Amino acid sequence: MTFASLGLIDPLLRALETLGYDTPSPVQAQAVPAVLAGRDLMAAAQTGTGKTAGFALPLLQRLVQEGPVVAANSVRALVLAPTRELAEQVHESIRVYGQNLPLRTYAVYGGVSINPQMMALRKGIDVLVATPGRLLDLYRQNAVKFSQLQILVLDEADRMLDLGFSEELASIYAALPKKRQTLLFSATFSESIRLLAGQMLDNPLSIEVSPRNVAASTVKQWVVPVDKKRKTELFIHLMKKQRWTQVLAFAKTRNGVDELVERLQGLGVNADGIHGDKPQATRQRALDRFKASEIRILVATDVAARGLDIDDLPLVVNFDLPIVAEDYVHRIGRTGRAGQTGEAISLVCADEVQLLAAIETLTRQTLARHEEQDFEPDHKVPATDASGQVIKKPKKPKKPKVSSAKGKLGKWMDSTDSDLPAPTVKPVRKVPSFNTGPKKKKP
Ligand code: AMP
Repeated sequence: MTFASLGLIDPLLRALETLGYDTPSPVQAQAVPAVLAGRDLMAAAQTGTGKTAGFALPLLQRLVQEGPVVAANSVRALVLAPTRELAEQVHESIRVYGQNLPLRTYAVYGGVSINPQMMALRKGIDVLVATPGRLLDLYRQNAVKFSQLQILVLDEADRMLDLGFSEELASIYAALPKKRQTLLFSATFSESIRLLAGQMLDNPLSIEVSPRNVAASTVKQWVVPVDKKRKTELFIHLMKKQRWTQVLAFAKTRNGVDELVERLQGLGVNADGIHGDKPQATRQRALDRFKASEIRILVATDVAARGLDIDDLPLVVNFDLPIVAEDYVHRIGRTGRAGQTGEAISLVCADEVQLLAAIETLTRQTLARHEEQDFEPDHKVPATDASGQVIKKPKKPKKPKVSSAKGKLGKWMDSTDSDLPAPTVKPVRKVPSFNTGPKKKKP
């Protein structure tokens, strides 16, 4: 199959040729003809599947082939994205795909001054990529009008709801023309997403693709049980012992990101962090430097890192487990891409056992555990299995040990704590696509 056979016009085909895209990905093969035909879409696809081109290519084509010249302050296609980084990234892709077309594209998001955005919108924008909060601000200040809107895209709809944007989405939805084409992309399909889809979509075509990056790759995954207060120390210990080259690490909170980065920088390690409190320019610079290998360790929150296209990382470290189990799959999907092997290490404390159980249920595997010598936790992480069960109750906290260099040091354990020969690689089962099983409640 070729892009030409999907019915795309020459200026788009030339852009794809420049990018070296030869073959449409599965989501593109399904989405492009449907969107060109004017259908609404409900797609279970996430970053790494080529979903951006899947909606952007036919959207651009429809805008050049149909509809009016854009009027002042108007928008003809609106792409809503959950985070600033994703908005930037999606906008950049749309700009590149549409490089040979006479269309204006732009991105608006919070955390930066609103005035330049108001100025840019004055001329009218064919494709506007926006985070919901800033878009609503602009709308309420009459800087943007939706009367010419032909196409609405909700990118990472599940994440927009997770981030609490449902009210903003409802307000935006109320301001849009009823006659329009709507495309909804989401990694998961919970009840609330289905409700949103029911309100916003008209007889949509459903598309489902499994994430290329996780399902097709071999990622060595394991858990290192550790007491909460010793996580930073363990991180530094493993970094030195295993000679980590480039690492994307995830922490739960903004403070957690800052504290780890400070400790690492204090040791002279080239580290930086991205999270929602940092100005957009700083976040983008950190990301660019990480991609250029100028930063060795990038610490991020899920919100800041979600959807970012970072390829071919050797190692992802979960300094904290994610609150939402699906984020685990997003995180480890940054490594082991394109048939390469990657590693994902999770530092897990007793408080996180329910989160661990949720991840094991979602990914249908029991993650191997490896206690690190001298870091054996006083607060044991109860055993778990892939059915989501926590097998043992957490033991009462013991007093800190004076010496802990005893017992199962450095041994691999399975979920029942039996000693196993130390494997170097724990084979990982295929991770299922996300929208089939029942959605786990947030722990
Ligand atoms: P996305 O899932 O849209 O974030 O895309 C993931 C990555 O795949 C991006 O780096 C795209 O540039 C790339 N990509 C998308 N479609 C194709 C294709 N048909 N052939 C090769 N690379 C692609």
